Amino acid sequence: MSAAAWRFCPRCATPLASREAGGRPRLACPACDFVHWDNPLPVLAGLVEYDGRILLARNAQWTHGLYALITGFMEADETPEQGMARELKEETDLDADRMTLIGVYEFMRKNELIIAYHVEASGTIKLSEELADFRLVAPERLRPWRAGTGYAMADWMRARGLPVEFVDLPSRPTTESPNS
Ligand SMILES: [Zn+2]
Repeated sequence: MSAAAWRFCPRCATPLASREAGGRPRLACPACDFVHWDNPLPVLAGLVEYDGRILLARNAQWTHGLYALITGFMEADETPEQGMARELKEETDLDADRMTLIGVYEFMRKNELIIAYHVEASGTIKLSEELADFRLVAPERLRPWRAGTGYAMADWMRARGLPVEFVDLPSRPTTESPNS
């Protein structure tokens, strides 16, 4: 959890301590009024449609080989739609022509809130260094996963009358069975 990274008050550098604030225990400063509220961070996610297919990309730092939606954080001076278009441009060099909100999804495991868009995009795909590879998948062949952006994908498929068949995520290394 992100709270584990907080040890000192960012205002006065006093070590933080746990105390109740707003009805639950929080990390707070005993010397000033700073409270680390630890509110979820919004994350933008784009189900990008390109040439009738959905673009899924593999992050260069991922070892599990999954292909996922285009995601990124918002900048302080932009709307969610502007942020989504910027992330798409930065990561794939594509232009967002049309954008529709799919929905908003919890991702408590990372203390994030996912704002998911269906993005119709055009241009020529040129991946940034952050992305190692991409795939273009026909909408009816998408297999969503049971977490954050996977639920957004499933909702978008259902809205188009496509049957939804979930796929199980590979287990994390610590719980992986030897023969998986
Ligand atoms: Zn303080």
